[in-house]
Amino acid sequence: MSSTDFSSQNGAGGPPYANGPSQNPVALQPPGPGYMAHQTPYNPMQAKGPMPPGPGIYNSGPYQPIPPVSSNQALPSQPMLKRPPMGPQHSMTPPQSASPNPGSRIPPAHATPPPVSANNYQHAPAWQYGGTLPMGAPPSMGAPPPMAMPPLRPVGNHMTSSPSLATPQASSAEYRATPPVFHNAMQPLGPPTSLQGYTQQGHMPTPGNGAQVPNSFDHLEMGPKMAGPLPPQQPGPPTRQMGLSYPSLPPGYQNTSAPPTAATMQHPVQPSTQPYSHPQPYQQPSAGPAQLSPSLSGLSLQSQTPEALRVVNLLQERNLLPLGPVTPPTPCLPQDLQKINCHPEVFRSTLTSIPQTQSLLNKAKLPLGLLLHPFKDLSQLPVVTSSTIVRCRSCRTYINPFVTFLDQRRWKCNLCYRVNDVPEEFMYNPVSRSYGEPHKRPEVQNATLEFIAPSEYMLRPPQPAVYLIVLDVSHNAVETGYLDVVCQSLLENINALPGDSRTKIGFITFDSTIHFYNLQEGLSQPQMLIVTDIEDIFLPTPDSLLVNLNECKELVQDLLRSLPQMFGKTMETQCALGPALQAAFKLLSATGGRVSVFQTQLPSLGVGALKSREDPNQRASAKDIQHLSPATDFYKKLALDCSGQQVAVDLFLLSSQYCDLASLGCISRYSAGSVYYYPSYHQQHNPAGVECFQKDLKRYLTRKIGFEAVMRIRCSKGLSIHTFHGNFFVRSTDLLSLPNVNPDAGFAVQMSIEENLVDMQSVSFQAALLYTSSKGERRIRVHTMCLPVVNSLSDIFAGADVQAITCLLASMAVDRSVTASLSDARDAMTNASIDSLTSFRTSVLTIQQPGLLAPACLRLFPLYILALLKQKAFRTGTSTRLDDRVFAMCQLKYQPLAYVMLMIHPALYRVDDLTDEGALNVSERTIPQPRVQQLSVEKLSRDGAFLMDAGSVIYLWIGRNCNPNFLTQVLGLPNYAAVPLNMNMLPELDTAESQRTRAFVGWLREQRPFFPILHVIRDESPLKASFLQNMIEDRTESALSYYEFLLHIQQQVSK
Ligand SMILES: [Zn+2]
Repeated sequence: MSSTDFSSQNGAGGPPYANGPSQNPVALQPPGPGYMAHQTPYNPMQAKGPMPPGPGIYNSGPYQPIPPVSSNQALPSQPMLKRPPMGPQHSMTPPQSASPNPGSRIPPAHATPPPVSANNYQHAPAWQYGGTLPMGAPPSMGAPPPMAMPPLRPVGNHMTSSPSLATPQASSAEYRATPPVFHNAMQPLGPPTSLQGYTQQGHMPTPGNGAQVPNSFDHLEMGPKMAGPLPPQQPGPPTRQMGLSYPSLPPGYQNTSAPPTAATMQHPVQPSTQPYSHPQPYQQPSAGPAQLSPSLSGLSLQSQTPEALRVVNLLQERNLLPLGPVTPPTPCLPQDLQKINCHPEVFRSTLTSIPQTQSLLNKAKLPLGLLLHPFKDLSQLPVVTSSTIVRCRSCRTYINPFVTFLDQRRWKCNLCYRVNDVPEEFMYNPVSRSYGEPHKRPEVQNATLEFIAPSEYMLRPPQPAVYLIVLDVSHNAVETGYLDVVCQSLLENINALPGDSRTKIGFITFDSTIHFYNLQEGLSQPQMLIVTDIEDIFLPTPDSLLVNLNECKELVQDLLRSLPQMFGKTMETQCALGPALQAAFKLLSATGGRVSVFQTQLPSLGVGALKSREDPNQRASAKDIQHLSPATDFYKKLALDCSGQQVAVDLFLLSSQYCDLASLGCISRYSAGSVYYYPSYHQQHNPAGVECFQKDLKRYLTRKIGFEAVMRIRCSKGLSIHTFHGNFFVRSTDLLSLPNVNPDAGFAVQMSIEENLVDMQSVSFQAALLYTSSKGERRIRVHTMCLPVVNSLSDIFAGADVQAITCLLASMAVDRSVTASLSDARDAMTNASIDSLTSFRTSVLTIQQPGLLAPACLRLFPLYILALLKQKAFRTGTSTRLDDRVFAMCQLKYQPLAYVMLMIHPALYRVDDLTDEGALNVSERTIPQPRVQQLSVEKLSRDGAFLMDAGSVIYLWIGRNCNPNFLTQVLGLPNYAAVPLNMNMLPELDTAESQRTRAFVGWLREQRPFFPILHVIRDESPLKASFLQNMIEDRTESALSYYEFLLHIQQQVSK
């Protein structure tokens, strides 16, 4: 696949950000023929026309009705559309009407989608692994039968009407014309069902094994690819002969190395048998959400006055922060269902009560979306090995705790409502070793679990772990001293790299030329091969550059020991990053894998060379921020090529100068990589930065990794996805291509309600992540979340999750900053808070009172919005470096919610008087829990010491009159004047105060996958300004104080 294949869809000739930010509804106004308008989701990011910065001239434009348009017509262009409509649009982008459009209707989701030209699917899909398909793979990948329909889902309606799918990204799973085959169903029951304890190493299906199955990914990651609509009660899959007596079943399970007792159900960290030893109360057969009504009605919000709806006058109640962390709301579900619902750290929704209709959602003026942390490190993860992974025959949803069992033999899908047969194997419960209790199976008891996928989930043998390290060795790079750290860290962690006996590794270095390293077994030392023709990169010895780590470990270690010296005296200043990346892509195309790029300057040679676009003199004065979008589409196109070959690129940017992260970051963004940024990195001058880099590297090298992954998000009929946020490539409407997946990546998804959910008590969302583990297993991690459907605005407000809303808005605002402008994004965020509070005031409150009124659950909303406006990504008026700003934007988009919230609204604690009162006990350590303070200078007292946790940075501010006890017992310093201007660590003193403080800081650090630098600050410290910039409630030269902001909002709300 060449990069040009992507150009039509991704707008290579147009706005270079087409796949990402331009999914932002505001940026796209698909006017193409056949485009179907449908009811417009409320989009808080929608600009309201020019919004004056100051209070008083607020224009509430977008919510004023505009004349309805006919459903097949392009929506009228809108004033906020700042760029011409793009060419072929991405399929999942909905129309962006500036107002709810009562005239437009979408066809029902089950309507037959418009016919799809077979031409649309003529390309081999991107993820078909470069022709290494095992024998017996579907022969007709190139020319699928026209019967192969896109999924019969709401998204299908506009998906098929968009020409944008005429690209390889249409998943090949679309091609299948045959119904799913349930494997092994007629064979003796093998591989047994067991939980955890599964240690198959390097499982390599031989051709003809998994390959006999029609397209394997279809089974997993596609929706209904049936040749036609299913009859309502199609006979179930071939199952074991019915009437096969129960005693014949257990032997299948006896194939396990250990009998399926509770002992086989160990969890990695928590080997107790929970939750299985205590079967969850499960109201069989009527526990499914479809039968919720009696219990749910008992929980009606109207019957109580929930705390969430308590009216708060924000102008009066100043101290709104809870004592500890802000906790997400609990969905209003019957307790037995809520108990097994997906954990909010993994999967949560901005609204924990889903509005029945889009128009109701529009009235609430709150964004609807999901936040996911799908590959999070979990201390407890049930792992299931089963010969049959039970999925809905129609929509391919995995059986989950929220399905309904009509009886022992039939279950009803909670996403599409099809009734499915319970396969015979599923009748046996390996946990209780009993028969006839399908609802007690682990799949139905856990909202998060992982399957070991059988061979039909593979298209080729699972790839080995492949790591390629690409290092800038120009003079500038060597000068920073970073090479020592990287090589040392690799040497230290070489045995901890995730992988198995097949793991491969390779190295490329570059300056004005590209250097390869022959590490073939048998050589006495690594052999360096220099390619000077950077215009036409080739691999000098293709077979010996990527070697088996175990077999060639000594050569690899030799290389790592000598690399830092090899370039020690280089005078080469040029840097050919683009050609080096092309070489990396070539080297990894055949296998897929992970590229780790270390870069220290603006690339200056060959393809992808960049020029400085930042003018520091204009930072503060410019009316709007320029150059947030990439200068070239080279990095994006290459990333898409990488994505197609299952290669992800992680970028480590260590630099003291502008590097154009907006351009370089595309290489990671579209290949599902990560970006790390260490401004002002220098081995001597920035020891704190070096420590941070070392710690991050260790985590990076040793954390879990999934290869050749895809993630699909399914939701109940009536709901649809319209925008994704994060690092990935969107392969089809609900499928993300993730060449690598890591445990620290977060995703956000905007949703819309396409069909009224009138008859539904609840809806469900399911995220399925199929990946190859570093040990070569295909695994599927499945998360399912169930939420109630409500039909009143007050219920919607009562379920609002202010943190999730804030994070989703932040992602949307990043897109908007790039596609429109930063000022547009800022206005849109402000408007989001105004609109929702206006809606609350006018539609929910029955008694009008003076003041700025918010429901308790949204009381922090204006504060968080103000915090976003002052966040590095979005702030104005201060001298924020462009790369710093762009990096903050990257973080807002791909970090999980917990870390994003700290970036937006840091936590401030007083720490000079820490006590053990209310302390946590974590593995026999006592962790003090000081209360969270408001972010205002008023809260800092000069006789104290305050710790501010801003996510990736922790500040410890020492007051001028700080308690001498703290100075001596914690800092080991005689007095205030002795506090160094650059102090980055706490001494290990044998005092109770020191232990408490270090325990607290250590505990904060442990909870995130990156290493926050600690800065001890006093009045004279250069970083004092950064610390004070986080005092969100205070006024700054260019931004309102919290109170002023509230007054501004009140003025708008009361209009
Ligand atoms: Zn279904």
